[in-house]
Amino acid sequence: MLFLNIRNFGQDYSRMICLPASSAGQSFGNHKNCDRHRTILWLNQAILTDLFNQIEITMGHPCETITGSMMMSGQAMKSEMAALQAKTSRFGNEAVDGFLTEAERAKVMADAAVKLEELFDVLRIDHRNDHNMRDTPARVAKMYVEEILRGRFVPPPAITEFDNVEQCDQLIVTGPIDVRSTCAHHLMPIYGECYIGIVPSPDGKIIGLSKYDRLVDYFSSRFQIQEELVKQIERHIVETTAPRGLAIRISAVHMCKTHRGIRASHDARMITTTYYGCMAEDRDLKAEFLQECVGLQR
Ligand SMILES: [Zn+2]
Repeated sequence: MLFLNIRNFGQDYSRMICLPASSAGQSFGNHKNCDRHRTILWLNQAILTDLFNQIEITMGHPCETITGSMMMSGQAMKSEMAALQAKTSRFGNEAVDGFLTEAERAKVMADAAVKLEELFDVLRIDHRNDHNMRDTPARVAKMYVEEILRGRFVPPPAITEFDNVEQCDQLIVTGPIDVRSTCAHHLMPIYGECYIGIVPSPDGKIIGLSKYDRLVDYFSSRFQIQEELVKQIERHIVETTAPRGLAIRISAVHMCKTHRGIRASHDARMITTTYYGCMAEDRDLKAEFLQECVGLQR
């Protein structure tokens, strides 16, 4: 028997299911054939769990024979859900639309903690009684939202721009900048160094040196692949400062390669470099940049 409390429906969801107010706190649905499928089994399991976290619910068998005026068709429900999902979800290395307020991040953390508890249950870990793991779901959820994926939920760091008064147009190289990121394929750490080479436009802007560190940290705080990480950093710097040339080079260790799979040497690194503007065209500038990188290497 299913009991659904209508007060638990989020506003977005309530329009998907036409429930009379009188159904609050009662079982509803008019599927006669099967007691287990009396209700909105058109919803997928994930959505159901989200909606009814505090409610005991039996689910899992979308039943084709559910009919009745209280329900939308399964197809309509599916497209509603897809639209909802598309409205709020982005790729692992993209920021969510409009970013999240502190209260919204707290909600995401609480929801994620519940899912981590479920994960531990699936993995048969008695996290409720394990003295080591009792608070782990909440702790890990917080770590994801506030640290590992922070660059998806908050805006990029503000960049202090200065006019290029001296009309500097020579190559500036900064680094090593620590890279701490997480691979999108295995959710394992990526760590290493980033070097940035900038050729400012004489009539463009220059930014404070520490801002490059903050930008690297920001874009690294997402589920990344290294090839796209350098591109994201490049795009942002180009858009905000319009330099004449730019080079981003990251050398990093991928723990998905050193701690699993091939179990490669801890020294095994991956290097990705991206060049923009005159840095892409001028071979001497490229060589100068690479030489400075070697010089800066620890
Ligand atoms: Zn990986």
